[in-house]
Amino acid sequence: MDAAETEFWDRQTKCPVMTTFRAVGRTIRSIRRLSDESDKPVRAFTLVELLVVMGVISVLISILLPSLHRARAQADAVACASSLRSIGQGLQIYVNDHNGRLPYVIEPIWSPIRRLDFTRDPRAEPQSLSNTLKTIWKSDPAKLMKCNSAQLGYPTGNYAMTYRVSAANNYDGIPMTIEQLVLPNGTVRYEYSLKQLNGRKHKMLHMNGDSFPFKLAKGPGPFYLVRDFVGKNPDPNEFSPRLPHNKTFNQLMLDMSVNNERDSTVGLSYP
Ligand SMILES: [Zn+2]
Repeated sequence: MDAAETEFWDRQTKCPVMTTFRAVGRTIRSIRRLSDESDKPVRAFTLVELLVVMGVISVLISILLPSLHRARAQADAVACASSLRSIGQGLQIYVNDHNGRLPYVIEPIWSPIRRLDFTRDPRAEPQSLSNTLKTIWKSDPAKLMKCNSAQLGYPTGNYAMTYRVSAANNYDGIPMTIEQLVLPNGTVRYEYSLKQLNGRKHKMLHMNGDSFPFKLAKGPGPFYLVRDFVGKNPDPNEFSPRLPHNKTFNQLMLDMSVNNERDSTVGLSYP
């Protein structure tokens, strides 16, 4: 045996799967020897051999299951990004049909008392994103509005939408024009209201926050159109952030591209 061959067999000896298979083989051979000692010829698997095989299969399943879960989580993240891309295509069609303007969209999760209200149903709001895009797709885009890995959404219990809209995020839910948002002294009334889906020109976006006129800005965080819901637990006693895709979330950006974002503080500062 040359060195490479020796190394190969050394590796085989150490491999836990091969060791398991060899142990199973030895067990079966010794069981067969026992059976041979009684004078009966053995022609089929015995019950013990069957049980050993079933045991090995169950061990293999338990080894493989976690990786299957990981694969499914990865598939959910890909499906979610694909949904966001489709929502972006719908928005682009709206922009093309409306003189370059993005739609007015009211996110229905704000309650009149300025609290997040996960019980409200976006399907009941004529200006919700799902209802706006419904007129474009001529069908119910319900599937596109839900991320399989979502841990937050509304209405509670039976999500109709699990994405956060960069919209008219005023506490009362009423969208404001850019003129209404800028105070006479030139300062901005609500920074978080300077978001995208508010009937504004897609090409003239304005996320500088404290300067006017606003410049088109690209980047993570608030410079998005729609994204996975990221936020605090609806339970006020629990403050752990909730992120859907292995501590990341997906978002549809201003330029209709989709990216994966890691910074959970983005979600927490813009609930
Ligand atoms: Zn998602």
